[in-house]
Amino acid sequence: MSHTQGPTSYSAIKLFMEGRKIAAAEKSQQERAKVGTLRAGNSGALVGEHVIGKCHRLSLARFIGLEEPKEDGTYCIFESGEANEDVWKSKVTKSWPGTVTGDSAFPLTWEIDGVKITGRPDLVFLGDGDKPEFLVELKVIESVQSAASLYYERKPKTDNLLQAAHYSLKFGMPALLVYTFSGKGDIPFWCIKKYNIPKGVKMSPFKMEFALFWQDGALGYVDQDGKSVITIITAQSIENYYKLILDMQREKDLYLRASSMDVHGGKQPWDSCSYCSLNEICNSYEAHGNYSLWLDEVRREWNN
Ligand code: SF4
Repeated sequence: MSHTQGPTSYSAIKLFMEGRKIAAAEKSQQERAKVGTLRAGNSGALVGEHVIGKCHRLSLARFIGLEEPKEDGTYCIFESGEANEDVWKSKVTKSWPGTVTGDSAFPLTWEIDGVKITGRPDLVFLGDGDKPEFLVELKVIESVQSAASLYYERKPKTDNLLQAAHYSLKFGMPALLVYTFSGKGDIPFWCIKKYNIPKGVKMSPFKMEFALFWQDGALGYVDQDGKSVITIITAQSIENYYKLILDMQREKDLYLRASSMDVHGGKQPWDSCSYCSLNEICNSYEAHGNYSLWLDEVRREWNN
């Protein structure tokens, strides 16, 4: 029997983009309900006069309800993070003898001066009697450049380490920070040179984990090779980051700019201000020092 069938007039991509728009509107509504709440997902630390991790000015803007517009690339990063969590959960629930929970089923809430700090760790592993044993914070590495840097440097990213440390601290539970890279590609030239990598070696998929611990109040981690590293981060420095944001709002003072110091007390190879949409606005603030003007300019820049 002959069979003919024309093409469908539906477009899967159109449906996807419409669904993404609806999901973004729902998310934006949820965000509005969280105005006046600080986030563990935007963790930082105040070490001496240096603010490291998530920029405190960006966290302040989010705290008072300003939202940075998202580009297509930002949605793609969120979506690959969500997909990564689903894949991890589908595998570890098969191998772990207890329950694996996390996200909104295992929320974190604590307070400073009556202001809530909230968060949701990606995975929490429950043991006997549903006692929480450890938690896992999952991160996806998108670019070959970042993958090569992580693989050969073997150091966690500051923001990611601080977020996992924050959960570990407040839940009083061991934490693992786990990276997944699923791509392939050429190793950047700087990396080949620095690590003397033989010709022809390419980046291929890998997973890498860091096991966090606390020693005499300082944050440490054990890398995948078993090497133990103590950082300059303390429990107090994480709490002081949130206190600083509240002080900034109360005193209408944006404090110093984000520091490029890393968790080892060295310098990060990049400066976060150079990649920030507010760089020019922060440059102007340095000249006028007017908190309200800075906020007006951020609103305009972000179309809020
Ligand atoms: S430009 Fe720098 S200091 Fe200003 S908001 Fe961005 S990261 Fe923070």
